[in-house]
Amino acid sequence: MPVNRDTVLDWMKRFAASMQEHRAELVKLDTAIGDGDHGTNMDRGMRKAIEKLDAQEQADAGTVLKTTAMALVSSVGGAAGPLYGTLLLQIGTALAGNDEIDLEAYAAAWRKGIAGVQARGKAQLGDKTMLDALVPGVEALEQASDLDTALQEAAKAAESGMRDTTALLARKGRASYLGERSQDHQDPGATSTYYLYQTAADALTG
Ligand code: ADP
Ligand code: MG
Repeated sequence: MPVNRDTVLDWMKRFAASMQEHRAELVKLDTAIGDGDHGTNMDRGMRKAIEKLDAQEQADAGTVLKTTAMALVSSVGGAAGPLYGTLLLQIGTALAGNDEIDLEAYAAAWRKGIAGVQARGKAQLGDKTMLDALVPGVEALEQASDLDTALQEAAKAAESGMRDTTALLARKGRASYLGERSQDHQDPGATSTYYLYQTAADALTG
C-alpha cells in the first residue's frame, strides 16, 4: 500500500475509531494513575480532527497529519493533546509535499515527531509515558527492510513497550504525583500510542 494522502487519511479515521472503541479502557487506566480523562480526551480530539478532515480537501499526507495535530491541540486540554499535537505536527511537517513516502522517509518522520514530544514534555525513556511505546516503535521502523514488515514490527514493539510500562515508576505527568503507587498500572498514553501504531499498520500495510 503506498503511503499517501488517502491511506494516511484512512489511518487517521481508523485511529479515531480506535479511540472511540477504547475510550473506556483508556479512562480506566487513567483513573488508576491520573485523573481519568485520557480516553475522553483522545476520543473528543480525534472526533474534532475527523470533522476538520472531512470539511476540506487535504493536499497530501503531511497536510492530513498537520490538520489532525491542530485539531488535537485546540480541542484537548491536559498533557496528551499538546503532546500528540506535537508528534503529528512534526511527522506531518517531515512528510509535507511528499506523496510517495518510502520506509526511510516514514521512519525519519516518526523520529522527528518523537524528538518533538521529548523537547516539549522533557520525558526520558523509562519515565512511564507515551515515549515508552513511541521509541520502541520507531526503532522497529528503522530496523526493518521493507515497509509492511516495518509497520507490523512497530506495532508489536509498541505493544510490548506499552506492557512494560506496568512495572515502571512514573516520573513525568500526573501519575508521577503518586510516586510508588504509580507502579503495577499500565500507562494510558503508552496505550493510546500503541493504537496509533496499530492503526498505521492496519491502514498502510497491504
Ligand atoms: P493529563 O495527564 O493532563 O490528564 P491525559 O490523561 O490525556 O492528560 O494524558 C496522560 C498521558 O500523557 C500519560 O499517560 C502519559 O503517557 C502522557 N504524558 C504525560 N506527561 C508526559 C510528558 N511529559 N511526556 C510524555 N508523555 C507524557
Ligand atoms: Mg488524564
